[in-house]
Amino acid sequence: MKESAFSPTEEFALEQDNRDALGPFREEYYLPQGIVYLDGNSLGMLSKRAERTLMDSLNDWKRMGIDGWTQGERPWFYQAERLGACLATLVGADPDEVIASGSTTVNLHQLASTFYQPEGKRTKILADELTFPSDIYALQSQIRLRGLDPHEHLVLAASRDGRFLEEDDIIACMTEEIALIVLPTVLYRSGQLLDIPRLTEEAHKRGIMIGFDGCHSVGAIPHRFSEWDVDFAYWCNYKYLNGGPGSVGALYVNRKHFGRLPGLAGWFGSDKEKQFDMELSFSPAQTAGAYQIGTPHILSMAPLFGALSMFEEAGIDQIRQKSLQQTAYLMDLLDEELADHGFVIGNPREDARRGGHVSLEHPEAARICKALKDSGVIPDFRAPNVIRLAPVALYTSYHDVWRAVQILKRIMEEQTYERYENKRGVVA
Ligand SMILES: *Cc1c(COP(=O)(O)O)cnc(C)c1O
Repeated sequence: MKESAFSPTEEFALEQDNRDALGPFREEYYLPQGIVYLDGNSLGMLSKRAERTLMDSLNDWKRMGIDGWTQGERPWFYQAERLGACLATLVGADPDEVIASGSTTVNLHQLASTFYQPEGKRTKILADELTFPSDIYALQSQIRLRGLDPHEHLVLAASRDGRFLEEDDIIACMTEEIALIVLPTVLYRSGQLLDIPRLTEEAHKRGIMIGFDGCHSVGAIPHRFSEWDVDFAYWCNYKYLNGGPGSVGALYVNRKHFGRLPGLAGWFGSDKEKQFDMELSFSPAQTAGAYQIGTPHILSMAPLFGALSMFEEAGIDQIRQKSLQQTAYLMDLLDEELADHGFVIGNPREDARRGGHVSLEHPEAARICKALKDSGVIPDFRAPNVIRLAPVALYTSYHDVWRAVQILKRIMEEQTYERYENKRGVVA
């Protein structure tokens, strides 16, 4: 699809939709009538296919009880591995390097408990000060569990401007005291995409293991984790992947680490042939499956089969291309329509450094978000001053993006946001 020159008109938006090869996927989703949903980077929307595969699992339970484990429509005993294989194409890994399991934070605990091996002078973990707080809490507790002090042993690479990280600054923190590095692929607030291959190469040159939190990139951006030689990664499946609220997450472990004993072992990490031998000595799977702990959350996994089938059909490269075009279009519209209202675009402008969302900063962001919601546009707010707007390639139209900006413009011109308190809700 060739890009045509930008124009702020409604006709231009409709024209883009007409030319959009991914446009038909929108019909596959349940989208609230008359609402522009731009929060798919927090909770992706339900598709008819995801609903169907969830219902299949419920029906298996209803019809066959325990036999659903081996004889269901998609036998539950192998679901985590099968989903891992589907997810592997999205992160550039071999099918057995990915497993659907746990949740983001739990998977980080699992991976840090495995790959954080403080030894001699190398006792510290390197993360960054803009990372998602849950990741920091997990790393702090992992350090504490080794009898060390997180104040001393967790190093946070600093941001120069509170928005972005410079890869050079992170690399400067890769000292011989660092045992493990954990970084996001895309920063959750500013949407900056880090240079994963470069950071991985620099870490390895210094003999340091490195893993990535892919919550804000998996499903929006292609990855080449195996080619880049990333040691491990973990992410949730309820944001860009539309697996549903609290959906089971996933993790990637580079096959060069297969055979390591997972830090947190449990019977579902067993070699599947041996699991039901019920031996007291653990025989871990020789795949990423070893990092599972207990019985998989089947009903929280089932929607992913339907949800992921659309990624397979659409192709992640096409999804990325449309996502970049939509965020660029959104920024063009914001520049054109809202230049005089005190907004700052707080995400990288360059394609190569931009994730899937636009990060719009404004001192009144909290109440502008409330006004947007009441006017039928769903963004999200991240304290202290960020409105995140995520057009999602599989279900957001160009006309949605256009309409969201028109509504925002009206809110700013009529100052309707002033009717709201500038304070976030319990769930922002
Ligand atoms: C959404 C998100 C999480 C959430 O973790 P859960 O364990 O799924 O609640 C963690 N890290 C990042 C970067 C996120 O964006």
